[in-house]
Amino acid sequence: MRCPFCGHGDTQVSETRESDEGDVVRRRRRCQSCDKRFTTYERAEIALPMVVKKDGTRADFDMGKLRASMTLALRKRPVSIEQIDAALERIQEKLLSSGAREIPSTKLGEHVMRELKRIDKVAYVRFASVYRSFEDVDEFRQLIRDI
Ligand SMILES: [Zn+2]
Repeated sequence: MRCPFCGHGDTQVSETRESDEGDVVRRRRRCQSCDKRFTTYERAEIALPMVVKKDGTRADFDMGKLRASMTLALRKRPVSIEQIDAALERIQEKLLSSGAREIPSTKLGEHVMRELKRIDKVAYVRFASVYRSFEDVDEFRQLIRDI
């Protein structure tokens, strides 16, 4: 595997880990030349599900978009990139292991909320308040109570 930082052809695997479901192998690699570290993921080639939006249209699953919405909710919060990566990885693993060909965008939002709830309560409330666009104050109160 070529180093993504300096292009050196020789990188060493320092750690190999399988996901809980055993369908993703994650390898930590270190470049022999510039000493930078990066992670590669190995999985059977099956596509992530299509996202079905509220208006019924379908879109390709977009990990970048998912990352962007999580990052926005986590703005100025004490959460590292590694934590965000790990959360995205968990969501991806769930989607892959479900084997579903399609996922409603609302369901995807729930996956994100579950992860945010776990890593940062403030980001969770931020995301949920936008995502659920609270119908009434009671619903918001209920959410605050839940966390
Ligand atoms: Zn390198």
